[in-house]
Amino acid sequence: MKKTTHKEALDNKIFKITSQAATQLNVKSYVIGGFVRDFLLQRDFKKDIDIVAVGSGIALAQEVSSLLPNKPKVQVFKTYGTAMLCFEGIDIEFVGARKESYSTDSRNPVVETGTLEDDQNRRDFTINALALSLDEADYGTLVDPFNGIEDLKNKIIRTPLDPDITYSDDPLRMMRAIRFATQLGFTIEAESLTAIGRNKERIKIITGERIVDELNKILSAAVPSVGFKLLHQTGLLHIIMPELTNLQGVEEVEGQTHKDNFFHTLEVVDNIAQNTDDVWLRWAALLHDIGKAPTKKFSKKVGWTFHGHEFVGGKMVKKLFERLHMPLNHKMKFVSKMVMLSSRPIVLAQDIITDSAVRRLVFDAGEDVESLMTLCEADITTKNPNKFKKYHNNFKIVRQKIVEVEERDHVRNFQPPISGEEIMATFNIKPSKEIGILKEAIKEAILEGEIPNEYQAAHDYMMERAKKLGLVVVD
Ligand code: ATP
Repeated sequence: MKKTTHKEALDNKIFKITSQAATQLNVKSYVIGGFVRDFLLQRDFKKDIDIVAVGSGIALAQEVSSLLPNKPKVQVFKTYGTAMLCFEGIDIEFVGARKESYSTDSRNPVVETGTLEDDQNRRDFTINALALSLDEADYGTLVDPFNGIEDLKNKIIRTPLDPDITYSDDPLRMMRAIRFATQLGFTIEAESLTAIGRNKERIKIITGERIVDELNKILSAAVPSVGFKLLHQTGLLHIIMPELTNLQGVEEVEGQTHKDNFFHTLEVVDNIAQNTDDVWLRWAALLHDIGKAPTKKFSKKVGWTFHGHEFVGGKMVKKLFERLHMPLNHKMKFVSKMVMLSSRPIVLAQDIITDSAVRRLVFDAGEDVESLMTLCEADITTKNPNKFKKYHNNFKIVRQKIVEVEERDHVRNFQPPISGEEIMATFNIKPSKEIGILKEAIKEAILEGEIPNEYQAAHDYMMERAKKLGLVVVD
């Protein structure tokens, strides 16, 4: 076979030093995996570099560190037989070449030392098994036993071994195949794709965190729908996120249909991917309609309805995050809030927009009002060009109104102009329901535009309302 070299990939000083260290230890070493793949694809360089040593990866890491001027700390992961050090902001991972054998109930294999070939066999895809030699004698030589180069050229994701074995051994690879296909715009080889379908149930042994790592990468891609369609087609999505697959399909009763909310959702996700890099806002787009499956009803009078789906969907977000072991912090609250508010601007845009409706929207969405507008604009998937234009124009007006109303009324970070303490002191009362009533009345009057969001106006209004409640001022 023709020998190909890529010395130009190995400019970084770390490769020369690794080569030197390996010679001293009398082992062979190779750069392997994502670094080589992304170099050959001329893709933006990722930060970490994987090095495989035919011998001890830990010893090689320690030797490399000793040759580096600042002798960086070597982090050793004994259980995995790997070691890592950081050089000029890049993480370099060292692993000894290994052979793996799997049992059916775990994705953690039994590991033995092996040859480079054994190590390439255990890799997930041919394009991730490409290695460049760091050996002084054949520095930069490509080692490509599975013709990964051809697969890179033809944009194909293929497993080095029988795909049924590769996927069953470590089912996370099914998610990785779909993730790489989405990120790189590659096609999963037909045999491999059907193998994912056959092995889909195995995904159940993978932790939520790992699955979510891959979902985040799919969602962060330029066209996330590619990945979700593949997840759907292979049956994986039904297992990991039934909330989404339950949206699929069009029902017809008495000649009336509704749209396919699953494919609509994917369009919304692709739309929003063009307007934001915020993965959490992309999550909101993905989940914005999940409440539609449990709330779907048909009535003879009005046809299909999804009453209250925003509220139900917002609650489902928390359950879904819990199930997938996602963070339950402000990120989850943000996604849930976006889902709950996801129909509000649409209603606004259909009607004549009143200032008080805009104030209420800004009050409810607070800091996130722009994100909410971005989500709602992405939600416009009508194929009717007139409607498309009209809705977008209406949203422009809503955005403009938001700015005007906010400049005047400052309700985005609403702070009650009169505090509970002041109410208690003014009327000499203890904590009681009257305080809540007065505070709520003042807030409502501001949102309705009856009074401006100012202290004096709020104070006058409070005095008026207090009188009706029978409260008297104490001097
Ligand atoms: P990215 O950083 O974009 O995820 P990568 O290919 O570098 O790309 P890593 O997860 O860093 O991905 O893995 C590094 C290499 O380790 C891969 O290129 C592949 O060779 C191998 N690898 C990673 N995970 C697996 C797996 N589950 N099964 C087999 N090989 C794997």
